[in-house]
Amino acid sequence: MEAGDEARVHGPSDLHLHSDHSDGTDSPAAVMAAARGHGLRTVSLTDHDTTSGWDAAATAAASLVMTFLPGMELSARHEHRSVHVLGYLFDPAAAEVRALTDRIRDSRLTRARTMAERISRDYDITWDDIRAHAADGATIGRPHIADALAAKGHVRDREEAFADILHPQSPYYVTLYAPDPVTAVAAIADAGGVPIIAHPAGRGGILSPRVIGRMLDAGLAGFELGHRENREPGLGTLRALAEERDLIVTGSSDYHGSGKPNIPGENTTTDEMVARIIALGTGTAPRWP
Ligand code: AMP
Ligand code: FE
Ligand code: FE
Ligand code: ZN
Repeated sequence: MEAGDEARVHGPSDLHLHSDHSDGTDSPAAVMAAARGHGLRTVSLTDHDTTSGWDAAATAAASLVMTFLPGMELSARHEHRSVHVLGYLFDPAAAEVRALTDRIRDSRLTRARTMAERISRDYDITWDDIRAHAADGATIGRPHIADALAAKGHVRDREEAFADILHPQSPYYVTLYAPDPVTAVAAIADAGGVPIIAHPAGRGGILSPRVIGRMLDAGLAGFELGHRENREPGLGTLRALAEERDLIVTGSSDYHGSGKPNIPGENTTTDEMVARIIALGTGTAPRWP
């Protein structure tokens, strides 16, 4: 961060938004417009396992006079539980990040095809139906299968699809390749980025102190404490840890367009914390308005 950059940070800031480059329903430009429409001044685009939306989002953010922080939500897994690691301001060309995201996206494609094949034994749905619900080159996920199931009238919406047909306990479910959370954090940190655990106190509860400790050793910078899925008592535990270790804490919407009820700006990150992220991130520069 250049001297004086801290004074250039303008809230409200929402650093977790998805476009149709992964499982959001809006284009990157439309996500930026929605964010501005909800009064935001600083934003990030954090599609799952891809940086392909950065350029379009940065251009749109500039025209809307918003500060743009390039970001991503990297898929990881610890003992059967999915862990999402937000990464900000990392170098998208860094070899380890590239290798991980290439492998995850590859696995997501194979996995979605296998799930489609299994589901098609019981429901009228084809791989082409599912592909039609994902933009070209998008990171494929269960939400695209959900949208295809909804379009065919098999479920009402994504929520209902996830509760049953797409649930991890469902016979149609297939796991995707995902690195362990320490590897995910290290890859982002080594690429000059700022790793933050997304929705760290969600329904599965928090990760064990041992795993969180190893993630901190690998360069974990903080927690997304402001997120609608976070729950007590895990939230309180992480709040205390963040205070004790002076970690970064963020708040965000996790907007997915019409794919989720989440609204841009429903949680926000303070100017101080945004400035700390910008001070720490060296892999890519923020795009100032
Ligand atoms: P996947 O990455 O393919 O395993 O799918 C997980 C993604 O599905 C997450 O990134 C969420 O955005 C989305 N998701 C999970 N549960 C729901 C739900 N109940 N309603 C809508 N989207 C969901
Ligand atoms: Fe998602
Ligand atoms: Fe997530
Ligand atoms: Zn997300």
